Amino acid sequence: MSTSSSFPPKRPIDVAKAAIHGERLSGVADIRDFPRLLDALDDRASASNVTWQAVFQNRLVAGADQQVWLHLEGSAHVPLTCQRCLEVMTQSLTLDLEFRFLPTEADALAQDDDCEEDLLALETPLDLGLLLEDELLMALPLVASHDSCPTAPVFSVADADFPVEPKAVNPFQALAGLKEPPPKA
Ligand SMILES: [Zn+2]
Repeated sequence: MSTSSSFPPKRPIDVAKAAIHGERLSGVADIRDFPRLLDALDDRASASNVTWQAVFQNRLVAGADQQVWLHLEGSAHVPLTCQRCLEVMTQSLTLDLEFRFLPTEADALAQDDDCEEDLLALETPLDLGLLLEDELLMALPLVASHDSCPTAPVFSVADADFPVEPKAVNPFQALAGLKEPPPKA
């Protein structure tokens, strides 16, 4: 049981303080620590770990108060079901996000439409793990599909130019083929 998993700290982060110190946190977290993300996946066993980094900073802005920012990066490879061929596919998730912190939720709501970056409030202690999982969930494609599916779609043999010799298959043999034991999980 030696896991080197490094989930973001569970204690809420005092963002203003972290920004003063220019705090930089990073780790490689076990995907099993992200239950909501796991629920959205296909073959859970093949999901990768989640590599993440969070950098807090105070930024000086001309003519304005110093601003508190978080640069959040993350990446993972997750198995999803291709909606075209229904096989499992691997999707890369990559986060590269900027958050600006305002004193209160009300401030953040008031400015939300005017800026590109996401706004969060300093008055709410930051749960970095929750934020990371939220963002990974939002990075999932609405409809997952291979760039090009490994299994070619099956068309009618009538479309083929070449003669097709159907193989005579004993129906009992065919059934037996279907009864292979499922792969061990
Ligand atoms: Zn596919």
